[in-house]
Amino acid sequence: MKLTVHGAAQQVTGSMHLLEINQYKILVDCGLDYERDTHLQLNENFPFNPSDIDVVILTHAHIDHSGNLPTLVRMGFNGQILCTAPTADLTELLLLDSVNIFMRKEHQSRKHNRKRPGQGRQPLYLQKHVTDTVERFITIGFNRPFNINDDVELTLIPVGHLLGAAAAILKINDNGTEKTIAFTGDIGRKNYPVLNDPQTLPQVDYLVSEATYGGRHHTKDKTIADVLIETIEKACVKESGRLIIPAFSIGRTQALVFSLNKIFSQGLLPPIKVFVDSPMANMATNVFRKHHSLLNDEAQDFYHKLGDEFEFENLTYVENLKDSRQVSNYFEPCVIISSAGMLEGGRIQDHLFHNIQNYYCTILFIGYCAKGTLGHRLLRGDPIVHIKDRDLAVYATIKKTDLFSAHGDHDDLINMINQQDNKRLKNIFLVHGETTSMQVLADALSEREYKVTLAEKNLPYDL
Ligand SMILES: [Zn+2]
Repeated sequence: MKLTVHGAAQQVTGSMHLLEINQYKILVDCGLDYERDTHLQLNENFPFNPSDIDVVILTHAHIDHSGNLPTLVRMGFNGQILCTAPTADLTELLLLDSVNIFMRKEHQSRKHNRKRPGQGRQPLYLQKHVTDTVERFITIGFNRPFNINDDVELTLIPVGHLLGAAAAILKINDNGTEKTIAFTGDIGRKNYPVLNDPQTLPQVDYLVSEATYGGRHHTKDKTIADVLIETIEKACVKESGRLIIPAFSIGRTQALVFSLNKIFSQGLLPPIKVFVDSPMANMATNVFRKHHSLLNDEAQDFYHKLGDEFEFENLTYVENLKDSRQVSNYFEPCVIISSAGMLEGGRIQDHLFHNIQNYYCTILFIGYCAKGTLGHRLLRGDPIVHIKDRDLAVYATIKKTDLFSAHGDHDDLINMINQQDNKRLKNIFLVHGETTSMQVLADALSEREYKVTLAEKNLPYDL
């Protein structure tokens, strides 16, 4: 059999791995490559014929793993997409949001290219392609072996990270020889709010592992509760100001809301008003409620003793734009959770526009902000930022924490791989990481006598 890493090779986005067993072609993930974002159409250039792919396995909903599926379908893929039920639900939300982003970008580019018709940026796919994609989802439970065909058995193992996220374990009969290969997808961390810890992977012959946090370590001397209590006390109790938390709508917002719910229910803070202002977060929260049985024990216990993990008395989910505008002008101390997480678009822009010049406002970043985004500019300390066609001086206090990162760090990755017997594991292919991160992880694994390959893009490996 043959493995080819077609995406997320020595970079973080665009996960796409092809496994060929004789003539049968399995694609694991089909993500958007953000590095190609300025030329979205480059995502159309598949290095294979989409109609030749027999089946897709989707590890989880994040757009760098799922975001190019509608393009694959639009260009002729005609098979099934295998994933867990929450992944199917969350992917649908994220793909529809992608269409909205494409349409907005197309609109902007048309405005800029008014004098040159036809030069505007075309959307990569439309809503109808998302519908065609969603119809191909076949959902599989965790830890339930599923026969893809007579020679290939798939088992999805929970890995934390995001509701529904899985590692794909394949047991393959390759011309009479049994071979096993695991694709980790993205690996989460232990004790993450709402999510179960990553499960130990079974022993395999080959491992295709993510390496995002190779060489990096998460903060360990503080808990999420410590950081939230300290920040809210300073911003909203001692100073009676407001705290704005930019958060991704799916995953991060639910982790944050549950963490706040625990703090308020224990009476560790006075009942400061909390607004969640993101229509997509509201829909995603309903997906978490729908798949409640997959949440961790802490969330289940909380539910049985105190009710809905995502509801508390001083919490308001903002639905329409009119109410959102009123939140910006709410004069009492409050916490505003809004998206987009990197501050590019979404309702968060309104909140920043009205509050960035306010000395009594604190902005707490809980997620990664890519270069070139407003979030990145604020984090690096720009004194003036451009929001909604105006240059505004930054008087708000900027803070950040990595405690909400949904990726395991260097030690978590090493511990996960260490469960594998280095005599039986024939090769580890590292993907989904910058080259420097991968190299540090590869060195640490080589010291433990594992054979490691930094996967090269489009290069087929015989297994
Ligand atoms: Zn992910």
